[in-house]
Amino acid sequence: MEERFIEWTANSITSKTNFNMRMYLNTKERIIRYEEDVEKESRKNNKLCKCCYYIKDAYGFSAMTTSYCGICKESILNGSSCTNRVCDKCAESHKLCSRCGGKMEE
Ligand SMILES: [Zn+2]
Ligand SMILES: [Zn+2]
Repeated sequence: MEERFIEWTANSITSKTNFNMRMYLNTKERIIRYEEDVEKESRKNNKLCKCCYYIKDAYGFSAMTTSYCGICKESILNGSSCTNRVCDKCAESHKLCSRCGGKMEE
């Protein structure tokens, strides 16, 4: 494999540096939201843990994707290629995040 030549100019440097700053601010904002659990209600309704709700970028490419619940084997229809580990029912009864299967915070 070989990458094509990318000329690195003063503009490239400025734009990358700005991008890095936005990335930092965006990450910081997510951590604050995580720690304060600002949308607890909506997060719980969506059966998502704090990490999946606030930190991860859960945007797979949007193609309806079927996955299977890792507990009851029920099929789950997902709106994108970012699939759920467990179905809503199992997430509810085991107090797990439906997306990643980790424990739900109270
Ligand atoms: Zn299930
Ligand atoms: Zn999760």
